[in-house]
Amino acid sequence: MATEKVVIIGSGPAGLTACIYAARASLQPLCFEGYNAGGLIPGGQLMFTTEVENYPGFPQNVMGPELMKSMRDQAERFGTRFIRDDVTAVDLSKRPFTVRSPDETVQTHTVIIATGARANWLNLENEQRLAKSGGGVSACAVCDGALPLYRNQDLVVIGGGDSAVEEGSYLTKFARKVYLVHRRDELRASKAMQDRFFRLAKEGKMEGLWHNVVVDVLGDQAITGVRLKNVKTGAERDFPCKGLFLAIGHTPNTELFRGVLEMDDKSYLKTRPGGTHTSLDGVFAAGDVADHVYRQAVTAAGTGCMAALDAERWLAAQGIQ
Ligand code: NAP
Repeated sequence: MATEKVVIIGSGPAGLTACIYAARASLQPLCFEGYNAGGLIPGGQLMFTTEVENYPGFPQNVMGPELMKSMRDQAERFGTRFIRDDVTAVDLSKRPFTVRSPDETVQTHTVIIATGARANWLNLENEQRLAKSGGGVSACAVCDGALPLYRNQDLVVIGGGDSAVEEGSYLTKFARKVYLVHRRDELRASKAMQDRFFRLAKEGKMEGLWHNVVVDVLGDQAITGVRLKNVKTGAERDFPCKGLFLAIGHTPNTELFRGVLEMDDKSYLKTRPGGTHTSLDGVFAAGDVADHVYRQAVTAAGTGCMAALDAERWLAAQGIQ
């Protein structure tokens, strides 16, 4: 079996940018783009968004799936080979490394991990339906918050962490008012974020609905409200809103690498500061799988570029042409 120079796992902005750079460097990358059976989604999280307004170079906006198709076409044009499959096992204990999917086993000198992260959802039927149809339910305020359907409306954000407050405060730029639904009456968010919340609450732009959870999402074509349950009293009530944003954390797709690569306490891959090197020589990580802070398409693309350059330099240092 021929040994690949670079295998890229994942085909979101990080994976595809790594493909473009590796392909242009004549490394003939092989990309496992995922099949969406084991959590790896071809195209990544942008496949679930509608209009992307903050990816540079698109003054008239671009649809998430369209942007990903363009990146994939660009990667393919320079010679990236794609396998439409989830990776089910990796053996990084010896070089060359082995990467397996249900139908393929490949050996490779380097691996770029760009498996991303997935937003946590409540997994309510109506939540999923309206999120997929663009009906006013989203897990990314920065991606979707500025869309016209949310302007001057009452919006609900679920969560009590930094993301919930940050995304909620971002939404106050557009919304009539943002309601933070939290299952406790104490924010997990940092002191600075808590201060931000209480300042906005004082200004009447945000309000906390404490001890509440969302048990259903209301609306047919578009959201009209949420059903709240007070966890202290058990009482339920319908709360009208025109947008629902989940901010209850993300889960990095790192199950394949548990016990093999160093991770932080939230299971994100650790990379060496200023680069994309993981704890194993020849293995690089890019995008959300190693980033719980920025989580933007453009930052993922940036680190995908870095990973390809790091892999190229690592191969050259090993004398692998
Ligand atoms: P997080 O800190 O894990 O907070 C998740 C929040 O969602 C918690 O308040 C949690 O409630 C709530 N939650 C979780 N599951 C829930 C469920 N099923 N139903 C209802 N509520 C649920 O996640 P995060 O806010 O995304 O932050 C992740 C990391 O990124 C943190 O380290 C954070 O500091 C960092 N971050 C930093 C910034 C910044 O500094 N600018 C911005 C964003 C994120 P409980 O509190 O009751 O557990």
